Amino acid sequence: MPLDIPELSLKYYPYPSLRQKACLFERFDLSEKYFEELLKIMYTNQGIGLAANQVGLLFRIFVMDLSEARNEPIFIANPTIISQSTDLHSVEEGCLSLPGIQAKIYRPKKITLRYQDLTGTWIEKDFSELASSCVQHEIDHLNGLMFPDRLKTSQESTKIWKKYKAPSILEKKIPH
Ligand SMILES: [Zn+2]
Repeated sequence: MPLDIPELSLKYYPYPSLRQKACLFERFDLSEKYFEELLKIMYTNQGIGLAANQVGLLFRIFVMDLSEARNEPIFIANPTIISQSTDLHSVEEGCLSLPGIQAKIYRPKKITLRYQDLTGTWIEKDFSELASSCVQHEIDHLNGLMFPDRLKTSQESTKIWKKYKAPSILEKKIPH
């Protein structure tokens, strides 16, 4: 019998998995399928990264693609930041699960990441600038955090959250 995974769809805040901590990913027999499904949703929605929590799954996996041609996707499982620069930089961040809001978020400019690839092989790789921010944004998702949580003051955070309106209509199937 072929291995299969349930059909996945993009979830918007306040969908519960967006505020939950994801667990260790162990199903490397299914990693290609998850990779394919996550990429489909990320590309359809013009995102540069997508974490499992954003499709209702609580595994520590995410995908990203920062290439202009959208043809250099990577799959990251069970990531840990093993070192980070003290210098910070900022990126105007947005999130597919939080449509309509954006904010400048300061994060370490360079990080070294240890993670598993599609085959389960452990890899160490450096990420800088936009890639560094993107990886950190996705790891936050795996821990139930979202980018407005990273704003420096609670006033700034409250201001951003106030602008957010959940597109709940997109989540519901139209009854016939
Ligand atoms: Zn996000």
